[in-house]
Amino acid sequence: MADIRKNEILKSYTTFRCGGPASEFAEPSTEEEIIGLLSYAKKENREVLILGAGSNMLISDQGFDGLVIRISRKMADINILEEDEEGYVTIEAMAGASLALFGNTCTRQSLEGAEFCCGIPGNVGGAVFMNAGAYGREIKDIAVSVSYIEDNELKEIPASECGFGYRKSIFEEKASSGKNIVITKMTARLKKGDKEKIEAYVNELREKRTRSQPLDVPSAGSTFKRPEGYYAGALIEGSGLKGFKLDDSGAQVSPKHAGFVVNNGGTASASDVMRLIRYIQDKVYKDSNVRLQTEVRIVGKWE
Ligand SMILES: Cc1cc2nc3c(=O)[nH]c(=O)nc-3n(C[C@H](O)[C@H](O)[C@H](O)COP(=O)(O)OP(=O)(O)OC[C@H]3O[C@@H](n4cnc5c(N)ncnc54)[C@H](O)[C@@H]3O)c2cc1C
Repeated sequence: MADIRKNEILKSYTTFRCGGPASEFAEPSTEEEIIGLLSYAKKENREVLILGAGSNMLISDQGFDGLVIRISRKMADINILEEDEEGYVTIEAMAGASLALFGNTCTRQSLEGAEFCCGIPGNVGGAVFMNAGAYGREIKDIAVSVSYIEDNELKEIPASECGFGYRKSIFEEKASSGKNIVITKMTARLKKGDKEKIEAYVNELREKRTRSQPLDVPSAGSTFKRPEGYYAGALIEGSGLKGFKLDDSGAQVSPKHAGFVVNNGGTASASDVMRLIRYIQDKVYKDSNVRLQTEVRIVGKWE
């Protein structure tokens, strides 16, 4: 079984740069090790949290009382398979591979359709779980199948059975209902295209992102889901909260993009960030009658 470390501080494993310790923490290298860890957790009656790149998580200052299984660079192979007669190439990416690296690998191989992946700072597993997307495309559009572990068994299902929707998947549904699911691999199928055009599109998206998002400050990206018929950022800005902060903790509504709560200098605690999130939700509800739901996954115990 993979090594289990005690009291591992989770702050440095999240892009928000806050969060307390995990009572137990492991980074498996194989599917067998994942199954070993899940069996251990079941036997010892431990709660389990699966962590990817931690780019969509707000973990409480009290941390996580249970076993964190981090799917990391130890399970990060990307394999390009052969091109078929229709000019499509199949790519297998392990869950711990960075999504940006996956996007860049596809670009290098002149494969169209994964350009949006280049700017998303998560891992492949987290991206499948969230059905991550940007600029009109999402994981749903490129995945053909997903492998995952459930009930000690490695399964593979076609993308059509993954229940992909706006920032959701069947894996997210299962996890929400208390199941321990670990995504291990995504298989995608992409068409060969014109490398120059693909590179130009990647650069265009990168520039758009750099222009509009606070990429140099810790955050977890868009804090809230897009409510139907609205944009969260526009509602927040409409409530006069762009650049707003409650205190000097470091937690602030980004002055660059009102949809992002940022943690300036990484000095805010998770509760500071949470207080601001709740303030925004209440103010927007009062002003616009829309209850913003967090896109960021909230983990652990809160006051
Ligand atoms: C600057 C910035 C920009 C961003 N831009 C975008 C964007 O354009 N589009 C977008 O969709 N998102 C964006 N995000 C959010 C984030 O990058 C995505 O949601 C990403 O897919 C999360 O992946 P992760 O590996 O970091 O997952 P984590 O944050 O580690 O986890 C997210 C959820 O997935 C689960 N999970 C993670 N890995 C696995 C696995 N292997 N098996 C089972 N469950 C798993 C976790 O338990 C958790 O519930 C942005 C974030 C930042 C910081």
